[in-house]
Amino acid sequence: MGQPRQKTVAVVGTGLTGLVTAHLLHQDVQQRYAVKVLERKEECSLSAESIALPVSKDGATKSEWADVPMRAFAGGFYRNLVRLYDYLGVQYHSQQFVFSFSRLTSTASVPYMAHASNFHALPPVPHNVDFFAWLLEALYAIFFNIWFTLCVYYLSPVEHSSTRPAERFGDYLQRGFLPQYYVSHYLLPLMSSVCTCSHQELLDFPASDVLQYKRRTHGQPHYVVDSGVRTVQDRLSRGLDISFGVSLSRVLPKSDGVEVHYTNAAGITSVESFDLVVLAISPDVVAAVFEPLKDKMERIPTTVVDTVAHNDTKTLPILSSGERPEQRQSIHFRSSKDGTEAIHEQSLSSFIVTTNPLTPIDSSSVLKSATFTRVLRSPESRRIVNDIFAEDSANQDGTDEKSTRLWRNGDDGIYLAGGWCWDGMVLLEGCVVSAMRVASDLDVAIPWM
Ligand SMILES: Cc1cc2nc3c(=O)[nH]c(=O)nc-3n(C[C@H](O)[C@H](O)[C@H](O)COP(=O)(O)OP(=O)(O)OC[C@H]3O[C@@H](n4cnc5c(N)ncnc54)[C@H](O)[C@@H]3O)c2cc1C
Repeated sequence: MGQPRQKTVAVVGTGLTGLVTAHLLHQDVQQRYAVKVLERKEECSLSAESIALPVSKDGATKSEWADVPMRAFAGGFYRNLVRLYDYLGVQYHSQQFVFSFSRLTSTASVPYMAHASNFHALPPVPHNVDFFAWLLEALYAIFFNIWFTLCVYYLSPVEHSSTRPAERFGDYLQRGFLPQYYVSHYLLPLMSSVCTCSHQELLDFPASDVLQYKRRTHGQPHYVVDSGVRTVQDRLSRGLDISFGVSLSRVLPKSDGVEVHYTNAAGITSVESFDLVVLAISPDVVAAVFEPLKDKMERIPTTVVDTVAHNDTKTLPILSSGERPEQRQSIHFRSSKDGTEAIHEQSLSSFIVTTNPLTPIDSSSVLKSATFTRVLRSPESRRIVNDIFAEDSANQDGTDEKSTRLWRNGDDGIYLAGGWCWDGMVLLEGCVVSAMRVASDLDVAIPWM
């Protein structure tokens, strides 16, 4: 008897999710899947916007990749990402940060606080701030930070029920009596920068997302991959068959497989049939290419995030930091009423990445600008996602009648995966978890488990 025919699988997208999914299926020990990856860009997207920086070490100059956007992770929350990196043999190191907070007025940027991650050092006192006023501000911030932490552990968010949706983060903060000043000056700048969204968008998140993130990362160190996630991308993509410059336009389930329509850079559309398709793309793109999920995917909020890599040091707040240890990096949060720009300053070079810029950046200092789609969360979108990935495949009336059942992951030979395809904040951990889910559904062993 000959070998059974390999199943053909199209994996669309080369962010972390697409690459992990394709890698897992491609290295199946029984070689049951012939994987083809489709990517709209001309290169893998995980590290496409990273920048090679010259770094001098021991008298020699070499290039090191600086991640754009930031691909940091913290202990506690990123269990599967860490296992993946260990399995790939990717080196990473803990990274200390100094966080500074400034307020943007119509005429100036006014720093009011700085602190060192996990209190690893005494924070600098912002320039021109009266010491006693700063001390009062610091005591206030510490007090409400402890208050918020107690809420996180002892005040549970209201979960979704048949009569009401899950609690929004904004409503949770009110229920926890967190004062408006603490929320707008500390919590929102910090958390909206993690989610790269506006303050209002963050307040509309399900409270459970933010609390779960805070609980798991509390007191944990932050990490970054040595020399950027380019190494992760290189190791995951090794041996994969990737078609670049092809944009998926339609996915059509048929009785004998799935028809995939895509257009190349010259505008020529091709149609190819696969046994299975994994859509490792954002929900707005799923809505546009897969009709049965259009309605649901359009209810998952997304936003467009701008990043600018530059060396305009005039955009940095003035902190009287004195001596700066070489390993330390700074993240400056500068907020208006509605949102926060996050300025990531690397200490060894004048390399700066501003996310969602509010302060003008001298155009001659700009190295590269990029935009990203960021998937947001809401109680409604959380419910949609949880329904799609529910383990139990029966209807609420107990039957498994497919014609009346909600669309579930894997139906029609189509799988969804992405940082947004799990019940939590949309970060790198969700990419790995959802890629692992596809592999498990297809009976492929996960080598790091
Ligand atoms: C500014 C910023 C900073 C962040 N910082 C962090 C951080 O520090 N830590 C962290 O954990 N997370 C961070 N995140 C979140 C994290 O980067 C994302 O959750 C994650 O990268 C999502 O990966 P993904 O593979 O699911 O999707 P994506 O990376 O969005 O990949 C989607 C892929 O689909 C391709 N594609 C789209 N449409 C089509 C089409 N029609 N045809 C073919 N291909 C298509 C895209 O080109 C891309 O390759 C950050 C996000 C942003 C925007």
